[in-house]
Amino acid sequence: MRVLFLGTGTSFGVPVIGCSCRVCASSDPRDKRYRASVLIESGRVHGGAAAVVVDAGPEFRLQALRAGISSIDALLLTHAHADHVNGLDDVRPLTKDRILPVYGNAETLAETRERFAYIFRETQAGGGKPRVDLRLATGPLSAGGMDFVPIPVSHGVLPILGWRTGRFAYITDCSDLPAASLPLLAGVEVLVINGLRRKPHETHFSLDQGMDAAKRIGAKRTWLTHMNHESTHEELEDYCAQRGADVGARPAWDSLEIEI
Ligand SMILES: [Zn+2]
Ligand SMILES: [Zn+2]
Ligand SMILES: [Zn+2]
Repeated sequence: MRVLFLGTGTSFGVPVIGCSCRVCASSDPRDKRYRASVLIESGRVHGGAAAVVVDAGPEFRLQALRAGISSIDALLLTHAHADHVNGLDDVRPLTKDRILPVYGNAETLAETRERFAYIFRETQAGGGKPRVDLRLATGPLSAGGMDFVPIPVSHGVLPILGWRTGRFAYITDCSDLPAASLPLLAGVEVLVINGLRRKPHETHFSLDQGMDAAKRIGAKRTWLTHMNHESTHEELEDYCAQRGADVGARPAWDSLEIEI
């Protein structure tokens, strides 16, 4: 299985519009963070590579072009905040020949229906809408020949989902990992978890909280995502090496590819 980071930034993205701080002005390509998303590819399934994307934020089109995505088997949503769903219309070219299954919890699907009401309304033929099928994720499901388990986590007071497949789990925008979800994460070795910045935040884990969650899960390799413009990639590498070496913590970056 291959995981490609399509984006690793918080809701503003990095650089932030109008900001000239040293991170936003950095020439290191790893300091350019599109909104958080990953592509998960299995080996070959039924003669073709299977691919699933988690979240479709505002840069989905740019991310898909950069990664050379030509088809996906499903879209898994963590939640329906703008930085995670505002690219939904841009899945359109990927739904020419098939209806794309989109999985989420009840809150996410309701919010998606509201934000993208035109998609779910009867309109004239050739109306230029993505063909998506919203599906409620109530338990383990199969997408693109891969088995996924939705992991309930809290984002402030909002119930959202992380996603697990095999030894890999992707959790973003989490501010509390409920004890009831820990058994669902048993045996996860490679973890993606959000770490916004050093200071605590109401609705997102800080870097330390993200690494603490990785310790509770017992991850062997931890990649931080959904990071803001407070620290350069280099600084994040140092910080993670000091505070999260026991879970192999490192900051992810856009276009990073990992094999699991
Ligand atoms: Zn977010
Ligand atoms: Zn900045
Ligand atoms: Zn969010």
